[in-house]
Amino acid sequence: MWRASVLTIFPDMFPGPLGASLAGKALANGAWSLDVVDIRGFAADKHRTVDDTPAGGGPGMVMKADVLGRAIDAAAQDPAQDMAQDMAQDTRPRLLMSPRGVPLTQARVEALTVGPGAVLVCGRFEGVDERVIAARGLEEVSIGDYVLSGGEIAALALIDACVRLLPGVMGAQASNAEESFADGLLEYPHYTRPQLWEGRPIPEVLLSGDHAKIAAWRRSEAERLTRERRADLWERYTAARPGPVKSR
Ligand code: SAH
Repeated sequence: MWRASVLTIFPDMFPGPLGASLAGKALANGAWSLDVVDIRGFAADKHRTVDDTPAGGGPGMVMKADVLGRAIDAAAQDPAQDMAQDMAQDTRPRLLMSPRGVPLTQARVEALTVGPGAVLVCGRFEGVDERVIAARGLEEVSIGDYVLSGGEIAALALIDACVRLLPGVMGAQASNAEESFADGLLEYPHYTRPQLWEGRPIPEVLLSGDHAKIAAWRRSEAERLTRERRADLWERYTAARPGPVKSR
């Protein structure tokens, strides 16, 4: 079973939105599991302190390596098992949500879903003590070039992207193959009834019943949107397929 362990100082934020809809149903059905580790539970003092002032001065606070290290070690233990697994047996990647990280991609999401799950560390304050990143082999992952107030929403986004790809979670498996990024392109536009809405018709080709023509139209629209919106994806796409690419 695909297993996510989330380390956070806000355990109440989970499962949050992942408790609803298809992800929530799949969680209830046991298609994946979620354990939430409250980092504060590993603090050593009676105030349950998880942060301290930055060495060298400056604004904000830093999450303590000792507390976080203990929490990460505990996350490797499977609560569903009688005997504690130790770190060596837990082969899941340990991810630190971080704006400094490698930007998350659909390819990385797919790679994660074929594995055993993930341990996700949610930073807060200015971030975490650098030593715990090295000592516990944390892989920094970003969900985009903007700064959130904490890693929780990033972890929710990552888990959501993974869970919807797990076998049996999404109703129509076929819809996955045509989605944005699946073949390096953004997805083509969608329409549904009514045929005419506020004077805007559905493109005629989609009503033609000619499946080859429809597929060709969708492909050219996907290419157009990618070229117009995402120069980075377009460049990779054209480089990967030698020969002329249809431009409309
Ligand atoms: N001082 C840091 C920002 C800290 S934001 C910096 O300038 O890089 C607090 C926490 O929110 C981070 O530790 C991280 O866990 C999370 N976070 C913020 N933005 C994120 C992003 N784009 N992707 C993933 N996690 C993010």
